[in-house]
Amino acid sequence: MKVLSVSSEVFPLIKTGGLADVSGALPIALKAFGVETKTLLPGYPAVMKVIRDPVVRLEFEDLLGEKATVLEVQHEGLDLLVLHAPAYYDRPGGPYLDPLGKDYPDNWRRFAALSLAASEIAAGLLPGWRPDLVHTHDWQAALTSVYMRYYPSPELPSVLTIHNIAFQGQFGSEIFPGLRLPGHAFAIDGVEYYGTIGFLKGGLQTAHAITTVSPTYADEILTPEFGMGLEGVIATRIDNLHGIVNGIDTDIWNPATDPVVHTHYGPTTLKNRDENRRSIAEFFHLDNDDAPIFCVISRLTWQKGMDLVANVADEIVGMGGKLVVLGSGEAALEGALLASASRHPGRIGVSIGYNEPMSHLMQAGCDAIIIPSRFEPCGLTQLYGLRYGCVPIVARTGGLNDTVIDANHAALAAKVATGIQFSPVTETGLLQAIRRAMHFYTDRKLWTQLQKQGMKSDVSWEKSAERYAALYSSLVSKGM
Ligand code: ADP
Repeated sequence: MKVLSVSSEVFPLIKTGGLADVSGALPIALKAFGVETKTLLPGYPAVMKVIRDPVVRLEFEDLLGEKATVLEVQHEGLDLLVLHAPAYYDRPGGPYLDPLGKDYPDNWRRFAALSLAASEIAAGLLPGWRPDLVHTHDWQAALTSVYMRYYPSPELPSVLTIHNIAFQGQFGSEIFPGLRLPGHAFAIDGVEYYGTIGFLKGGLQTAHAITTVSPTYADEILTPEFGMGLEGVIATRIDNLHGIVNGIDTDIWNPATDPVVHTHYGPTTLKNRDENRRSIAEFFHLDNDDAPIFCVISRLTWQKGMDLVANVADEIVGMGGKLVVLGSGEAALEGALLASASRHPGRIGVSIGYNEPMSHLMQAGCDAIIIPSRFEPCGLTQLYGLRYGCVPIVARTGGLNDTVIDANHAALAAKVATGIQFSPVTETGLLQAIRRAMHFYTDRKLWTQLQKQGMKSDVSWEKSAERYAALYSSLVSKGM
Protein backbone atom coordinates (compact mmCIF):
# COMPACT_ATOMS: atom_id res chain seq x y z
CA MET A 1 0.00 0.00 0.00
CA LYS A 2 1.35 3.40 -1.02
CA VAL A 3 0.21 6.46 0.92
CA LEU A 4 0.80 10.16 0.32
CA SER A 5 0.72 11.99 3.69
CA VAL A 6 0.35 15.78 3.57
CA SER A 7 1.26 17.90 6.59
CA SER A 8 2.41 21.45 7.32
CA GLU A 9 4.74 20.22 10.11
CA VAL A 10 6.76 17.03 10.45
CA PHE A 11 9.01 16.11 13.41
CA PRO A 12 12.04 16.28 13.54
CA LEU A 13 12.20 18.90 10.76
CA ILE A 14 9.65 21.47 11.87
CA LYS A 15 7.35 21.42 14.92
CA THR A 16 4.93 23.75 16.66
CA GLY A 17 2.77 21.08 18.32
CA GLY A 18 1.47 17.51 18.45
CA LEU A 19 0.64 17.51 14.69
CA ALA A 20 4.37 17.31 13.90
CA ASP A 21 4.87 14.40 16.32
CA VAL A 22 2.10 12.43 14.64
CA SER A 23 3.03 13.13 11.02
CA GLY A 24 6.67 12.32 11.85
CA ALA A 25 6.03 9.10 13.79
CA LEU A 26 3.07 7.48 12.03
CA PRO A 27 4.81 6.75 8.68
CA ILE A 28 7.57 4.91 10.54
CA ALA A 29 5.12 2.88 12.64
CA LEU A 30 3.09 2.03 9.51
CA LYS A 31 6.04 0.32 7.82
CA ALA A 32 5.45 -2.79 9.94
CA PHE A 33 1.97 -3.05 8.40
CA GLY A 34 3.19 -2.92 4.81
CA VAL A 35 2.37 0.77 4.29
CA GLU A 36 4.93 2.81 2.36
CA THR A 37 4.42 6.54 3.01
CA LYS A 38 5.79 9.58 1.24
CA THR A 39 5.20 12.79 3.22
CA LEU A 40 4.67 16.11 1.45
CA LEU A 41 5.59 19.22 3.47
CA PRO A 42 6.49 22.84 2.69
CA GLY A 43 10.13 23.76 2.10
CA TYR A 44 10.49 26.26 4.97
CA PRO A 45 14.05 27.51 5.61
CA ALA A 46 14.32 25.13 8.61
CA VAL A 47 13.54 22.20 6.29
CA MET A 48 15.77 23.30 3.39
CA LYS A 49 18.65 23.73 5.85
CA VAL A 50 18.66 20.14 7.11
CA ILE A 51 17.83 18.04 4.06
CA ARG A 52 20.78 16.50 2.22
CA ASP A 53 21.04 15.70 -1.52
CA PRO A 54 17.40 16.14 -2.55
CA VAL A 55 16.35 14.99 -6.03
CA VAL A 56 14.02 17.09 -8.21
CA ARG A 57 10.97 14.90 -8.88
CA LEU A 58 8.38 17.26 -10.30
CA GLU A 59 8.07 20.77 -11.66
CA PHE A 60 4.68 22.36 -12.09
CA GLU A 61 2.97 25.73 -12.20
CA ASP A 62 1.77 26.94 -8.82
CA LEU A 63 -1.21 29.15 -7.94
CA LEU A 64 0.72 32.29 -8.83
CA GLY A 65 1.64 30.87 -12.22
CA GLU A 66 5.25 30.38 -11.06
CA LYS A 67 7.32 27.21 -11.29
CA ALA A 68 7.24 25.15 -8.08
CA THR A 69 9.39 22.08 -7.50
CA VAL A 70 8.82 18.89 -5.56
CA LEU A 71 12.08 17.51 -4.14
CA GLU A 72 12.41 13.97 -2.81
CA VAL A 73 14.77 13.19 0.06
CA GLN A 74 15.23 10.60 2.84
CA HIS A 75 15.52 11.97 6.37
CA GLU A 76 15.73 9.92 9.59
CA GLY A 77 13.57 7.08 8.31
CA LEU A 78 11.09 9.34 6.53
CA ASP A 79 10.60 9.53 2.77
CA LEU A 80 9.91 13.24 2.22
CA LEU A 81 8.52 15.21 -0.71
CA VAL A 82 9.45 18.83 -0.08
CA LEU A 83 7.44 21.51 -1.88
CA HIS A 84 10.14 24.00 -2.82
CA ALA A 85 8.28 27.22 -3.56
CA PRO A 86 10.33 30.13 -2.16
CA ALA A 87 7.60 32.71 -2.87
CA TYR A 88 5.48 31.00 -0.20
CA TYR A 89 7.86 29.47 2.29
CA ASP A 90 11.25 31.16 2.19
CA ARG A 91 10.65 33.79 4.89
CA PRO A 92 11.69 34.46 8.46
CA GLY A 93 9.36 33.46 11.29
CA GLY A 94 7.50 30.21 11.94
CA PRO A 95 5.39 28.04 9.66
CA TYR A 96 2.29 30.24 10.15
CA LEU A 97 3.43 33.40 11.94
CA ASP A 98 5.79 36.20 10.98
CA PRO A 99 8.63 37.23 13.32
CA LEU A 100 6.20 39.54 15.18
CA GLY A 101 3.83 36.64 15.87
CA LYS A 102 1.17 37.68 13.33
CA ASP A 103 -0.44 35.31 10.80
CA TYR A 104 1.08 35.73 7.34
CA PRO A 105 -1.69 37.47 5.34
CA ASP A 106 -1.31 34.96 2.47
CA ASN A 107 -1.54 31.81 4.61
CA TRP A 108 -4.56 30.77 2.54
CA ARG A 109 -2.45 30.74 -0.63
CA ARG A 110 0.60 29.14 1.06
CA PHE A 111 -1.44 26.14 2.16
CA ALA A 112 -3.72 26.00 -0.88
CA ALA A 113 -0.45 25.63 -2.82
CA LEU A 114 0.55 22.71 -0.61
CA SER A 115 -2.83 21.04 -1.18
CA LEU A 116 -2.73 21.69 -4.92
CA ALA A 117 0.70 20.07 -5.15
CA ALA A 118 -0.62 17.08 -3.20
CA SER A 119 -3.53 16.68 -5.60
CA GLU A 120 -1.10 16.76 -8.56
CA ILE A 121 0.88 13.92 -6.97
CA ALA A 122 -2.37 12.06 -6.22
CA ALA A 123 -3.24 12.37 -9.91
CA GLY A 124 -0.05 10.48 -10.78
CA LEU A 125 2.19 13.35 -11.87
CA LEU A 126 5.20 12.13 -9.88
CA PRO A 127 7.09 9.91 -12.34
CA GLY A 128 7.03 6.25 -11.31
CA TRP A 129 4.96 6.63 -8.12
CA ARG A 130 1.25 6.99 -7.63
CA PRO A 131 -0.32 6.61 -4.16
CA ASP A 132 -3.20 4.25 -3.40
CA LEU A 133 -4.53 6.70 -0.81
CA VAL A 134 -3.97 10.27 0.42
CA HIS A 135 -3.86 11.14 4.13
CA THR A 136 -4.14 14.86 4.95
CA HIS A 137 -3.66 16.58 8.32
CA ASP A 138 -5.53 19.64 9.62
CA TRP A 139 -6.77 22.68 7.69
CA GLN A 140 -3.40 23.38 6.08
CA ALA A 141 -3.66 20.20 3.98
CA ALA A 142 -7.46 19.89 3.90
CA LEU A 143 -7.98 21.42 0.44
CA THR A 144 -6.19 18.40 -1.05
CA SER A 145 -9.38 16.30 -1.15
CA VAL A 146 -11.26 19.36 -2.46
CA TYR A 147 -8.88 19.66 -5.42
CA MET A 148 -9.07 15.89 -5.88
CA ARG A 149 -12.84 16.11 -6.18
CA TYR A 150 -13.04 19.07 -8.53
CA TYR A 151 -10.10 18.28 -10.79
CA PRO A 152 -10.91 15.35 -13.01
CA SER A 153 -8.51 12.48 -12.30
CA PRO A 154 -8.91 8.82 -11.33
CA GLU A 155 -10.63 8.81 -7.92
CA LEU A 156 -8.40 7.95 -4.96
CA PRO A 157 -9.53 7.46 -1.37
CA SER A 158 -8.60 10.17 1.11
CA VAL A 159 -8.43 10.43 4.89
CA LEU A 160 -8.45 13.74 6.77
CA THR A 161 -7.20 13.83 10.37
CA ILE A 162 -8.34 16.61 12.71
CA HIS A 163 -5.66 17.32 15.32
CA ASN A 164 -7.47 20.33 16.81
CA ILE A 165 -10.78 21.63 15.48
CA ALA A 166 -10.09 25.06 16.98
CA PHE A 167 -7.91 25.73 13.93
CA GLN A 168 -10.13 25.77 10.83
CA GLY A 169 -8.47 27.91 8.15
CA GLN A 170 -11.35 30.32 7.57
CA PHE A 171 -10.90 33.19 5.09
CA GLY A 172 -12.99 35.84 3.34
CA SER A 173 -14.79 34.87 0.12
CA GLU A 174 -12.61 37.31 -1.87
CA ILE A 175 -9.83 34.68 -1.95
CA PHE A 176 -11.99 32.23 -3.88
CA PRO A 177 -10.78 33.16 -7.41
CA GLY A 178 -7.17 32.69 -6.21
CA LEU A 179 -7.86 29.06 -5.26
CA ARG A 180 -8.38 28.05 -8.91
CA LEU A 181 -11.43 25.97 -8.07
CA PRO A 182 -14.50 25.81 -10.33
CA GLY A 183 -17.32 28.20 -9.37
CA HIS A 184 -19.58 25.40 -8.13
CA ALA A 185 -17.03 24.53 -5.41
CA PHE A 186 -18.24 27.66 -3.59
CA ALA A 187 -21.26 25.76 -2.26
CA ILE A 188 -22.50 24.09 0.88
CA ASP A 189 -21.05 20.73 -0.17
CA GLY A 190 -17.73 22.40 -1.04
CA VAL A 191 -15.60 25.09 0.61
CA GLU A 192 -18.35 27.64 1.32
CA TYR A 193 -18.93 28.21 5.05
CA TYR A 194 -21.55 30.82 6.02
CA GLY A 195 -20.49 32.99 3.09
CA THR A 196 -16.77 32.59 3.79
CA ILE A 197 -14.20 29.98 2.73
CA GLY A 198 -13.44 27.16 5.16
CA PHE A 199 -10.42 24.98 4.35
CA LEU A 200 -11.14 22.41 7.07
CA LYS A 201 -14.83 22.55 6.25
CA GLY A 202 -14.07 21.78 2.59
CA GLY A 203 -11.91 18.85 3.64
CA LEU A 204 -14.63 17.49 5.94
CA GLN A 205 -17.04 17.55 2.97
CA THR A 206 -14.76 15.86 0.51
CA ALA A 207 -12.48 13.38 2.34
CA HIS A 208 -13.70 9.78 2.23
CA ALA A 209 -12.90 9.23 5.91
CA ILE A 210 -12.34 11.61 8.79
CA THR A 211 -10.27 10.69 11.81
CA THR A 212 -9.46 12.51 14.98
CA VAL A 213 -6.84 11.73 17.57
CA SER A 214 -8.95 10.03 20.25
CA PRO A 215 -12.34 8.30 20.46
CA THR A 216 -13.66 10.71 23.13
CA TYR A 217 -12.71 13.76 21.02
CA ALA A 218 -14.51 12.14 18.05
CA ASP A 219 -17.69 12.11 20.18
CA GLU A 220 -17.07 15.58 21.60
CA ILE A 221 -16.70 17.35 18.22
CA LEU A 222 -20.26 16.30 17.40
CA THR A 223 -21.47 18.68 20.14
CA PRO A 224 -21.78 22.49 19.95
CA GLU A 225 -19.51 22.83 23.01
CA PHE A 226 -16.51 21.22 21.29
CA GLY A 227 -17.38 21.28 17.54
CA MET A 228 -16.58 25.01 17.26
CA GLY A 229 -19.26 25.52 14.63
CA LEU A 230 -18.39 22.46 12.54
CA GLU A 231 -20.48 19.98 14.56
CA GLY A 232 -23.27 20.09 11.96
CA VAL A 233 -20.92 19.26 9.09
CA ILE A 234 -19.33 16.46 11.10
CA ALA A 235 -22.75 15.05 12.00
CA THR A 236 -23.42 14.53 8.29
CA ARG A 237 -20.18 12.46 8.11
CA ILE A 238 -20.68 10.44 11.29
CA ASP A 239 -20.56 7.09 9.45
CA ASN A 240 -17.08 7.97 8.24
CA LEU A 241 -15.72 9.39 11.50
CA HIS A 242 -13.09 7.47 13.52
CA GLY A 243 -11.19 8.22 16.73
CA ILE A 244 -7.66 6.77 16.84
CA VAL A 245 -5.52 7.71 19.80
CA ASN A 246 -1.93 8.95 19.24
CA GLY A 247 1.10 7.02 20.40
CA ILE A 248 4.53 8.32 21.44
CA ASP A 249 8.06 7.46 20.35
CA THR A 250 8.99 4.96 23.06
CA ASP A 251 12.67 4.99 22.02
CA ILE A 252 13.05 8.72 22.55
CA TRP A 253 10.82 8.64 25.65
CA ASN A 254 12.39 5.82 27.63
CA PRO A 255 13.39 6.42 31.29
CA ALA A 256 15.83 3.51 31.12
CA THR A 257 17.93 5.13 28.35
CA ASP A 258 16.90 8.81 28.05
CA PRO A 259 20.21 10.73 27.73
CA VAL A 260 18.96 13.84 29.57
CA VAL A 261 17.73 11.84 32.58
CA HIS A 262 20.48 11.86 35.24
CA THR A 263 19.61 8.53 36.81
CA HIS A 264 17.93 5.89 34.68
CA TYR A 265 15.19 3.67 36.06
CA GLY A 266 12.40 1.26 35.27
CA PRO A 267 9.29 -0.05 37.08
CA THR A 268 11.40 -2.09 39.52
CA THR A 269 13.96 0.66 40.20
CA LEU A 270 11.65 3.60 40.91
CA LYS A 271 13.84 4.59 43.86
CA ASN A 272 16.33 5.94 41.27
CA ARG A 273 13.84 8.71 40.52
CA ASP A 274 14.91 10.38 43.81
CA GLU A 275 18.13 11.59 42.21
CA ASN A 276 16.19 13.21 39.33
CA ARG A 277 13.80 14.67 41.89
CA ARG A 278 16.74 16.37 43.61
CA SER A 279 17.89 17.86 40.27
CA ILE A 280 14.41 19.29 39.73
CA ALA A 281 14.39 20.81 43.24
CA GLU A 282 17.78 22.37 42.51
CA PHE A 283 16.78 23.77 39.09
CA PHE A 284 13.58 25.33 40.44
CA HIS A 285 15.13 26.37 43.81
CA LEU A 286 12.71 24.22 45.80
CA ASP A 287 13.13 22.95 49.36
CA ASN A 288 14.54 19.44 49.20
CA ASP A 289 11.93 17.69 51.35
CA ASP A 290 9.50 14.79 50.94
CA ALA A 291 6.48 16.85 49.88
CA PRO A 292 5.17 15.76 46.47
CA ILE A 293 6.23 17.81 43.44
CA PHE A 294 3.39 18.49 40.99
CA CYS A 295 4.46 19.69 37.57
CA VAL A 296 3.00 21.41 34.52
CA ILE A 297 4.62 21.25 31.04
CA SER A 298 2.40 23.13 28.67
CA ARG A 299 1.52 25.97 26.39
CA LEU A 300 0.20 28.57 28.85
CA THR A 301 -3.28 29.10 27.41
CA TRP A 302 -6.95 29.04 28.37
CA GLN A 303 -7.44 25.77 26.42
CA LYS A 304 -4.87 24.12 28.69
CA GLY A 305 -6.63 25.41 31.87
CA MET A 306 -3.56 27.33 32.97
CA ASP A 307 -5.70 30.03 34.64
CA LEU A 308 -6.97 27.27 36.96
CA VAL A 309 -3.42 26.28 37.89
CA ALA A 310 -2.50 29.90 38.63
CA ASN A 311 -5.62 30.33 40.77
CA VAL A 312 -5.10 27.19 42.90
CA ALA A 313 -1.31 27.52 43.27
CA ASP A 314 -1.58 29.01 46.78
CA GLU A 315 -3.86 26.18 47.88
CA ILE A 316 -1.49 23.51 46.51
CA VAL A 317 1.19 24.97 48.77
CA GLY A 318 -1.37 25.25 51.61
CA MET A 319 -2.06 21.51 51.29
CA GLY A 320 1.66 20.79 51.62
CA GLY A 321 2.47 20.25 47.92
CA LYS A 322 5.09 21.84 45.69
CA LEU A 323 4.58 23.02 42.10
CA VAL A 324 6.91 23.48 39.14
CA VAL A 325 5.80 24.94 35.82
CA LEU A 326 7.56 24.88 32.43
CA GLY A 327 5.82 26.70 29.62
CA SER A 328 5.19 29.84 27.66
CA GLY A 329 2.15 31.49 26.17
CA GLU A 330 -0.31 34.20 27.17
CA ALA A 331 1.45 37.07 28.97
CA ALA A 332 -1.21 37.36 31.71
CA LEU A 333 -0.86 33.66 32.58
CA GLU A 334 2.94 33.82 32.55
CA GLY A 335 2.68 36.82 34.93
CA ALA A 336 0.20 35.12 37.28
CA LEU A 337 2.33 31.99 37.55
CA LEU A 338 5.56 33.96 38.10
CA ALA A 339 3.77 35.94 40.82
CA SER A 340 2.74 32.70 42.59
CA ALA A 341 6.39 31.58 42.53
CA SER A 342 7.54 34.81 44.11
CA ARG A 343 4.89 34.47 46.83
CA HIS A 344 6.13 30.95 47.66
CA PRO A 345 9.90 30.67 47.32
CA GLY A 346 11.03 27.10 47.90
CA ARG A 347 7.53 25.74 47.19
CA ILE A 348 6.73 26.94 43.64
CA GLY A 349 9.15 27.27 40.72
CA VAL A 350 8.26 28.64 37.27
CA SER A 351 10.42 28.56 34.14
CA ILE A 352 9.09 30.50 31.16
CA GLY A 353 10.25 29.17 27.79
CA TYR A 354 10.51 26.03 25.68
CA ASN A 355 13.03 23.52 27.04
CA GLU A 356 12.82 20.02 25.55
CA PRO A 357 15.54 18.41 27.80
CA MET A 358 13.99 19.92 30.96
CA SER A 359 10.58 18.52 29.92
CA HIS A 360 12.14 15.02 29.97
CA LEU A 361 13.85 15.56 33.33
CA MET A 362 10.62 16.87 34.89
CA GLN A 363 8.74 13.73 33.81
CA ALA A 364 11.59 11.67 35.30
CA GLY A 365 11.76 13.51 38.63
CA CYS A 366 8.37 15.02 39.50
CA ASP A 367 5.71 12.97 41.27
CA ALA A 368 2.65 13.98 39.25
CA ILE A 369 1.81 16.02 36.14
CA ILE A 370 -1.27 18.26 36.15
CA ILE A 371 -3.19 18.58 32.84
CA PRO A 372 -6.42 20.54 33.41
CA SER A 373 -7.30 21.11 29.71
CA ARG A 374 -10.75 22.43 28.85
CA PHE A 375 -10.47 20.41 25.65
CA GLU A 376 -7.68 18.08 24.58
CA PRO A 377 -7.92 16.23 21.25
CA CYS A 378 -5.32 13.68 22.40
CA GLY A 379 -2.57 15.20 24.54
CA LEU A 380 0.96 13.85 24.75
CA THR A 381 2.24 14.94 28.15
CA GLN A 382 0.00 12.47 30.00
CA LEU A 383 1.46 9.68 27.81
CA TYR A 384 5.00 10.75 28.71
CA GLY A 385 3.89 10.92 32.37
CA LEU A 386 2.58 7.34 32.22
CA ARG A 387 5.81 6.12 30.64
CA TYR A 388 7.99 7.93 33.23
CA GLY A 389 6.04 7.12 36.43
CA CYS A 390 4.95 10.76 36.78
CA VAL A 391 1.31 10.18 37.73
CA PRO A 392 -1.08 12.13 35.44
CA ILE A 393 -3.83 14.23 37.03
CA VAL A 394 -6.10 15.07 34.09
CA ALA A 395 -9.35 16.72 33.10
CA ARG A 396 -11.91 14.14 31.99
CA THR A 397 -11.96 15.20 28.31
CA GLY A 398 -10.76 14.05 24.88
CA GLY A 399 -7.67 11.88 24.76
CA LEU A 400 -7.00 12.45 28.47
CA ASN A 401 -10.18 10.50 29.18
CA ASP A 402 -9.11 7.68 26.84
CA THR A 403 -5.56 7.20 28.09
CA VAL A 404 -5.65 7.61 31.89
CA ILE A 405 -7.55 5.20 34.16
CA ASP A 406 -8.92 7.03 37.20
CA ALA A 407 -7.95 5.71 40.63
CA ASN A 408 -11.52 5.12 41.79
CA HIS A 409 -12.30 2.33 44.27
CA ALA A 410 -13.01 -0.30 41.60
CA ALA A 411 -9.90 0.52 39.54
CA LEU A 412 -7.69 0.56 42.64
CA ALA A 413 -9.10 -2.76 43.81
CA ALA A 414 -8.50 -4.27 40.37
CA LYS A 415 -5.00 -2.72 40.32
CA VAL A 416 -5.60 -1.06 36.92
CA ALA A 417 -5.61 2.63 37.93
CA THR A 418 -2.94 4.79 36.26
CA GLY A 419 -3.81 8.33 37.38
CA ILE A 420 -6.51 10.73 38.50
CA GLN A 421 -9.29 12.19 36.37
CA PHE A 422 -11.52 15.09 37.35
CA SER A 423 -14.56 16.96 36.12
CA PRO A 424 -15.96 19.56 35.93
CA VAL A 425 -12.88 21.42 34.81
CA THR A 426 -13.04 24.12 37.47
CA GLU A 427 -10.82 25.29 40.31
CA THR A 428 -12.86 23.17 42.73
CA GLY A 429 -12.60 20.13 40.47
CA LEU A 430 -8.84 20.55 40.12
CA LEU A 431 -8.35 21.12 43.86
CA GLN A 432 -10.32 17.99 44.69
CA ALA A 433 -8.12 16.01 42.31
CA ILE A 434 -4.97 17.38 43.93
CA ARG A 435 -6.39 16.61 47.39
CA ARG A 436 -6.95 13.00 46.25
CA ALA A 437 -3.39 12.86 44.93
CA MET A 438 -1.99 14.18 48.25
CA HIS A 439 -3.97 11.51 50.08
CA PHE A 440 -2.74 8.68 47.79
CA TYR A 441 0.81 9.99 48.06
CA THR A 442 0.87 9.40 51.82
CA ASP A 443 0.44 5.67 51.09
CA ARG A 444 3.75 4.80 49.41
CA LYS A 445 2.60 1.34 48.38
CA LEU A 446 -0.47 2.69 46.66
CA TRP A 447 1.45 5.49 44.93
CA THR A 448 4.07 3.05 43.65
CA GLN A 449 1.28 0.84 42.35
CA LEU A 450 -0.16 3.80 40.38
CA GLN A 451 3.29 4.56 38.94
CA LYS A 452 3.98 0.95 37.97
CA GLN A 453 0.56 0.48 36.44
CA GLY A 454 1.06 3.64 34.36
CA MET A 455 4.46 2.43 33.20
CA LYS A 456 2.81 -0.79 32.00
CA SER A 457 0.32 1.13 29.80
CA ASP A 458 0.86 0.61 26.09
CA VAL A 459 1.56 4.14 24.85
CA SER A 460 3.45 3.05 21.71
CA TRP A 461 2.29 3.68 18.14
CA GLU A 462 1.84 0.01 17.33
CA LYS A 463 -1.87 -0.46 18.04
CA SER A 464 -2.82 2.89 16.55
CA ALA A 465 -0.74 2.34 13.41
CA GLU A 466 -2.55 -0.98 12.98
CA ARG A 467 -5.88 0.85 13.14
CA TYR A 468 -4.79 3.41 10.54
CA ALA A 469 -3.55 0.58 8.30
CA ALA A 470 -6.90 -1.22 8.66
CA LEU A 471 -8.79 1.98 7.79
CA TYR A 472 -6.57 2.55 4.73
CA SER A 473 -7.16 -1.05 3.57
CA SER A 474 -10.91 -0.83 3.97
CA LEU A 475 -11.04 2.38 1.88
CA VAL A 476 -8.72 1.05 -0.83
CA SER A 477 -10.54 -2.26 -1.10
CA LYS A 478 -13.89 -0.46 -1.38
CA GLY A 479 -12.30 1.33 -4.35
CA MET A 480 -13.66 4.69 -3.27
P1 ADP B 1 -0.40 20.72 22.11
O1 ADP B 1 0.07 20.09 20.82
O2 ADP B 1 -1.86 21.08 22.14
O3 ADP B 1 0.47 21.85 22.59
P2 ADP B 1 0.30 18.15 23.31
O4 ADP B 1 0.23 17.65 24.72
O5 ADP B 1 -0.34 17.31 22.25
O6 ADP B 1 -0.27 19.63 23.31
O7 ADP B 1 1.82 18.32 22.89
C1 ADP B 1 2.65 19.27 23.51
C2 ADP B 1 4.11 18.88 23.27
O8 ADP B 1 4.95 20.01 23.52
C3 ADP B 1 4.60 17.81 24.22
O9 ADP B 1 5.60 17.08 23.54
C4 ADP B 1 5.20 18.62 25.40
O10 ADP B 1 6.16 17.91 26.14
C5 ADP B 1 5.81 19.75 24.65
N1 ADP B 1 5.91 21.02 25.41
C6 ADP B 1 4.93 21.90 25.71
N2 ADP B 1 5.43 22.98 26.34
C7 ADP B 1 6.76 22.77 26.45
C8 ADP B 1 7.84 23.53 27.00
N3 ADP B 1 7.64 24.72 27.53
N4 ADP B 1 9.08 23.00 26.94
C9 ADP B 1 9.28 21.79 26.38
N5 ADP B 1 8.32 21.03 25.84
C10 ADP B 1 7.06 21.52 25.88
